Amino acid sequence: MARRRARLAGLPDDGSGIREWLERHEDEDRWQCHLCFGSFQPGDEIQWDHLDPIAGGEAGTAVENVRAAHGACNISRRNTPLDVWYARVGTPEEAAA
Ligand SMILES: [Zn+2]
Repeated sequence: MARRRARLAGLPDDGSGIREWLERHEDEDRWQCHLCFGSFQPGDEIQWDHLDPIAGGEAGTAVENVRAAHGACNISRRNTPLDVWYARVGTPEEAAA
């Protein structure tokens, strides 16, 4: 749904899908939530989050703009810019300290 709206709005879309996004994550060998930096556990709901939210009106759906996140983290963040979200919940480094 969001992707269709983004296409209609003329935002970039490299045609990538879950296969390409997974490949990117495997290449990085860092299979963790990009929001809380927690690793994924069996049974975790994983959602694909747009680094730069589509709602921002500039970024689209491309491999470089899609990251895996816990469902709960993604829902918590919604369309909040990353720096604003981290200011609210604390960065993962702060949370670990
Ligand atoms: Zn998370």
